[in-house]
Parts: sequence; C-alpha cells; structure tokens
Amino acid sequence: MRRWFPSVQSPLWRVGGSWQGWRGTDAVTDDTFIISCRGKKDASRITLNFDRLDYFDYHENKSSLISKKKREGNPLKSLGMNKNSSMKERSSLLVFTDLDGTLLDHDSYSFEPALPALSELKEKCIPLIICSSKTRAEIEIIRQRLHNGHPFVSENGGAIFIPKGYFSHTFRYTREDSDYRIIEYGTSYSKIREVLKKMEGHSSGKIRGFGDFPIEEVAMLCDFSLDQARLAKMREYDEPFILKNIDALDKIQQIAENANLRVTRGGRFYHLLGENDKGKAVLRLRDIYEKKFKRIKTIALGNSQNDLKMLEVVDYPVLVQKPNGNYDPSVKCDNLILAPGIGPIGWNAAVLELLDDLL
Ligand SMILES: [Mg+2]
Repeated sequence: MRRWFPSVQSPLWRVGGSWQGWRGTDAVTDDTFIISCRGKKDASRITLNFDRLDYFDYHENKSSLISKKKREGNPLKSLGMNKNSSMKERSSLLVFTDLDGTLLDHDSYSFEPALPALSELKEKCIPLIICSSKTRAEIEIIRQRLHNGHPFVSENGGAIFIPKGYFSHTFRYTREDSDYRIIEYGTSYSKIREVLKKMEGHSSGKIRGFGDFPIEEVAMLCDFSLDQARLAKMREYDEPFILKNIDALDKIQQIAENANLRVTRGGRFYHLLGENDKGKAVLRLRDIYEKKFKRIKTIALGNSQNDLKMLEVVDYPVLVQKPNGNYDPSVKCDNLILAPGIGPIGWNAAVLELLDDLL
C-alpha cells in the first residue's frame, strides 16, 4: 500500500507513472481529475477533488481499495488560507526555508522526502515561507507544486512578495503589481551586472555570471530543463557567478564592497548582490505577522553560507547536511540545530521533531 498526498504532487505524473491497474486520466484541472478503473463497472470513474482530500491510500493491484480522508470544514484551511487567501487566525509559528539543497534535493530538485512534514505544516496551518536565491519566476512554479499561497522571498532577500489580500492589516511596501505587494531591498540587476564586468578585469576574465550564459549553459550547469533555465535567468536583484581563479576572491570582494555590493556563496555558485540578505527579509516578514499575532516563534532551514543571516535571526535555526553528509562549516550560529539527514531528508526529520516539541 502507498500513501499519496495529492495536494503536493502532480496527479498526472503519479497516476501515469505508477498507478498499476488504473487506466489513464482525463478532465484534469488544477484541483480535480477523474480516473478510470479497469474491469469494475460500478466504480469505473472516480472523481478526486484535491480541495477535499488530505491524502488517500491505494493498493496498486486491487482496483477497489482506495481509502480517502475527507477534510473537515473549509478545505482551504489546510493550506493556511481562507477563501480570500488571507492568513489563518491562529498562526503562531512561521517556517522559513531555503530551497536548493535544503527543501529541494541538490541533484534531483525533489521535495518528496519532505512530504510528511509538509503535510503536517498544512494540517496545522503553519505558514511555510520560501526564502531562496531563486528568482520570482522560479519560486512561483515551486509554490504551485507545493500549493503554497504564502509570501515568499526571492534572490537572497532581494524582495518580499506578499500576495494581495493575504494580510488584512496595512504595512509599508515599495510597489505593487496585479498579484503582490512587493517590498524591495535589492540593488537593481543592471547595476550588479556593471560591477561584475569590472570584476572580470581583475580576475583574468575568469568570472562568468548568469547574464553571460546562454540558456543552454545555465541548463547544463544547474541540471535544469531549458524552461527552468529560462526562469532562472529572469533575475532582478542577484547575479550567480562562477569564479575559476579562486585567488582573485579577495580582490573581487573589495570591488564589490566599493560599489556597496557583496559576494556570498550558495550551493553551486557565488552570488553578487546588494546589501539585502535573507535575514533582513525574515525579520521584516516576522514584524508584519506580529502586527496581528504578537509574539511569533520562527524556524528557518538552510544548507549553506547564504542562509546564515536567516538562521541568525530565528528562534530555531536548522542546518541540513550537504550531499556528502557534512554540514557547511561556514554556518555557525547560536542554538544551531543540525538536522539528521541530507537536504529534504534532514528537513523532514527536523520539522517533524520541532513541531512535536513546540505544539
Ligand atoms: Mg541552498
């Protein structure tokens, strides 16, 4: 028997990939799909509405054995949202998370090992706030896969995106578009690119940033599809780059400082960015939540140096293991919790344990 959490997995992929004894899918929408059952006339079509299911169990070789659990009341409660996508009233805990190498596996970019803890967060209506070096466009895709409607932080704290209507109280923001109120901390991408070009002159031209790479090369470097690579190049506040001559690092950092920029290191790349960092964004979001909910406890999970500022400002900082099973030695802060596992495996274990202790 296998348990499936439909709210966080693609129905087409799961049904098409591993549902033996069932025949195909049709009538697919975001929330509903219909499956056909081979050889059983009275149950030949079953409609599954994701808004009304927490999970269901299935037996691959027995067409009649599906058990499903219906949610009580408003189905959107499990996403920490009400019908207007606003925050649920009893939020008292916030979870901030890095993506690459933390919630997402370093190589496969899968969050599947973290499904039990993700489900628990939804069940308990605890906001999960993505705080990543990825672009807005990349994070939006991942939020869709997670069915996550909470605010998020892009490009190492470059900007906070708060869905319109999420908070009922007022807060200051830099600008808005049709979907979000946006708080910007980052330096413009065009200025960052200018400074990167200056750095090239001091490193024998051995610096190359995302802006220099064609889509195909970003795809190869990151193990992305071309579509994913295209989204990764839609940068607004932060430039990931490769530095071949490591001896030039000191000089490069000096040039960055002189331009009021800084260099930090992520899982795969160095990053050139402004004075923004994940910690500033986390503190600002915490303050906005606290306007309504007073004292809130915060958890953050990361895997590398560019998560340090975020980990330093939360109550429960969690460091997950790198793919080699070690912890990033440059990440040191008070009360650091070392998660017992690599990437999303450690993420899952640490979150479940913290929820157990704190709730
Ligand atoms: Mg990371």
